[in-house]
Amino acid sequence: MQQKRWLAWIMVILMVLGGGIPVRNVQAASPKISKTSITLKKGKSKTLKMKNIGKKTVVWGTADKKIATVSQKGKVKAKRAGETVITAIVSGSAYTCRVKVTDPKADNTEKTPAKTEPAETEPTETKAQETSPQETPETPETPGESSAEESSPQPEGTLDPEKDIVSGLTISNKTEQALEIRWAPLPGAEGYRVRYSTSKSMKKAKSKNTAETSITLSPLTVHQKYYVMVEAWANQNGEKVWTAPCDAKSKEVTGILVCIDPGHQLHANNGKEPVGPGSKTLKKKVSSGTAGKWSKLSEYELNLIVSLQLRTELQKRGYQVLMTRTKHKVNITNKERALIANKAKVDIMIRIHANGSETSSKRGAFTICCTKKNPYYAKKNYKKSKRLAKQVLKYFVKSTGAKKQKIWETDTMTGLNWSKVPAIILEMGEMNNKKEDLQMASKKYQKKMVKGISDGVDAYFKKK
Ligand SMILES: [Zn+2]
Repeated sequence: MQQKRWLAWIMVILMVLGGGIPVRNVQAASPKISKTSITLKKGKSKTLKMKNIGKKTVVWGTADKKIATVSQKGKVKAKRAGETVITAIVSGSAYTCRVKVTDPKADNTEKTPAKTEPAETEPTETKAQETSPQETPETPETPGESSAEESSPQPEGTLDPEKDIVSGLTISNKTEQALEIRWAPLPGAEGYRVRYSTSKSMKKAKSKNTAETSITLSPLTVHQKYYVMVEAWANQNGEKVWTAPCDAKSKEVTGILVCIDPGHQLHANNGKEPVGPGSKTLKKKVSSGTAGKWSKLSEYELNLIVSLQLRTELQKRGYQVLMTRTKHKVNITNKERALIANKAKVDIMIRIHANGSETSSKRGAFTICCTKKNPYYAKKNYKKSKRLAKQVLKYFVKSTGAKKQKIWETDTMTGLNWSKVPAIILEMGEMNNKKEDLQMASKKYQKKMVKGISDGVDAYFKKK
């Protein structure tokens, strides 16, 4: 087995040294690499280019990064004397350039393993010529052509990092908040690395390793599109060798994303911002909010206490939750809070507040949404926002026993007007009312409030 691998490996290197031609899918007017062989002095660089590929992406790789490295822009950097092969993968085809690095200061006698035993290729070549029409052509020593062995549980074959590439990549989003990735087994591979990123250029990509040919990535951000690529590895001559990654595929993650905006923050921001897109009416960026005369809680504190519990409960019920803040010491304007929800394409936004009416006898909860004639972004979601306002209030008072004040329709709320998603404000209760202030500050009542809001969300999404 070990010897077989060696033979195949040497053969491929020789093939490459012999011509540096595209290894797969050669076509008329087909892609070309700018140079098929170059010699560089140690420390020098040269940029290789792929021609006739239009806008297709190229994945660059080197057989031996100790000799020369290559950037994803094709810039080859000579590291030390010796020889290596640079590979450009385009749409599953590999194009190669042999790189010889010389070191003027050192005795330049380093050899590649390929040079030592050139005779080893001959048997394979002979075999190809010998193939008679009656016989099924079978060349198990040739890497990358062993697909006939798919039925075998442990595929025989040698991984050729220059040529082989994972194929058959599929992505499914049937499970919420997750992506299931599958690919075809690559003969000779001992394991795989799945790389995934929300950017097409695979910026900040994360990776997972597996010996299987499928993996579930979870939890992922709902409504976010992820790009996925897979590469294979095997141990060869005591070293781990990697194939180039296959072309990326992408899919959007399914699920329901709820944005919770805990109203206010530690310090008010008295700067001004437009009350809605295109509006000349300016309003304070973040007002200071009210406070409990008896509980001694500031509204921004109560709002966050309830919001964090609400997050936990909604997550338990299978929603994904986005928080505009999880700390008091932030500076996020009301407009910015709406933009956070817009950008994440959340399904709904609930802004948690408590009210501070001047009359201390006033008690109860109410919800706020835009009007039917809203002149801003909010207009297109009027119906949905109204329904959300209705359901949340209905189940909130049902769970807490609080007085139902009203659904207030207004176009004066910056955080609602800038919202491109269904959005409401919940005023949980009156902090100037002694009973309600102390109730809202208690764990027991907080639990009831959280249950009520969550039930309202369930009802909105028809999960009740
Ligand atoms: Zn408030």
